[in-house]
Amino acid sequence: MLRLLDAHRHAIDTCVFCPKLCRFACPVAEAAARETVTPWGLMTRIDDVHVGRAPLDAASGALWTHCTGCHRCQAVCKHDNDVPEVLYDARAAAAAGGHAPEALLAWGRSGTPPQPAFDALPEGGPVRLVPGHVDDATVQAAVRLLDAAGHGPLGRPIGGAGASGVRLLEAGLPEAFDAAAGRLADGLEGARLVVCLDPADALALRRDLPARGRTVGAPVQHLTEAVAGRLANLTPIVEGDVLYLDACRLGRGLGVYDAPRRTLEAIVTGRVVEAVMHHAEGGCCGAGAGLAATQPALAAQVGREAVADVPGLPVVVASGVCASHLRVATAGRAVHGWATLVARALSAPSQEEE
Ligand code: SF4
Ligand code: SF4
Repeated sequence: MLRLLDAHRHAIDTCVFCPKLCRFACPVAEAAARETVTPWGLMTRIDDVHVGRAPLDAASGALWTHCTGCHRCQAVCKHDNDVPEVLYDARAAAAAGGHAPEALLAWGRSGTPPQPAFDALPEGGPVRLVPGHVDDATVQAAVRLLDAAGHGPLGRPIGGAGASGVRLLEAGLPEAFDAAAGRLADGLEGARLVVCLDPADALALRRDLPARGRTVGAPVQHLTEAVAGRLANLTPIVEGDVLYLDACRLGRGLGVYDAPRRTLEAIVTGRVVEAVMHHAEGGCCGAGAGLAATQPALAAQVGREAVADVPGLPVVVASGVCASHLRVATAGRAVHGWATLVARALSAPSQEEE
């Protein structure tokens, strides 16, 4: 499995000899305040293992959990190095050698939460929903939004798969990802449009699956794209300003920045306020790539730091997974998932979400 890393030799070499130019951008390194978990530190350990200077052992596997896959490092890297791509292959080597942390593997294999609203949809049809790991309230909201946007009636993928399996890829189980994503792609055959609720699934179907030789025949969109400009009669339901956070895989991953902001502007009486770092440089909630499962305290610290520069305002993020994590991490601060908030504005008589 270490041969997997051969393909990344240029990226590894440029990182190892880099004066940590992306250190400031890495939310995990900033929160942990440790040089070993900077992008440079992760890549240096990968290099050490690859050339035999360090063992492929449990310590390496544990070190390589320190990443959310946020791609902030790539956004500032002069070499455009994709550190998570290299890291996931290093995780695969660790998993193949029996050195991956159990918590990371369990996260990778975790199923979707109970989603009765998804289970109630018929199989097949022209527009198919892929909910991913969001909660049932988000699925219910998405069904309402897509119906209001003229995309109904919705269907499930044939066979019932509700996620792409991208967590398997990020945990270092690429063969399992190929199988899971292939099953989903089979279940999407004949669709006219595929709508994902978790940006990670949309990114997997648009980028990772084609990179591995399989494509989905229909356009794949995130919910925010699918309803953009199609929701009439939205009612302002939030008094005052809100802080909008870019979800990493929606923004830097899919390039979706404006659509969720424009919709949000229609349902707040105040402004949609930006964090100090936003759009391509936006922060990270801390939940991604298994960090919340393997390093929960650190992941919570990353989340708190992401919303700290604009204190007090309610937070809105267009990822149900990010919203759930931020709610726990920031305990007490109002955090809204974009879908549930906007769905309430479809027919809301008044007032802010609890
Ligand atoms: S990702 Fe780019 S900026 Fe960051 S350590 Fe590697 S070479 Fe340097
Ligand atoms: S992807 Fe994000 S968390 Fe991972 S090394 Fe890069 S900046 Fe750090």
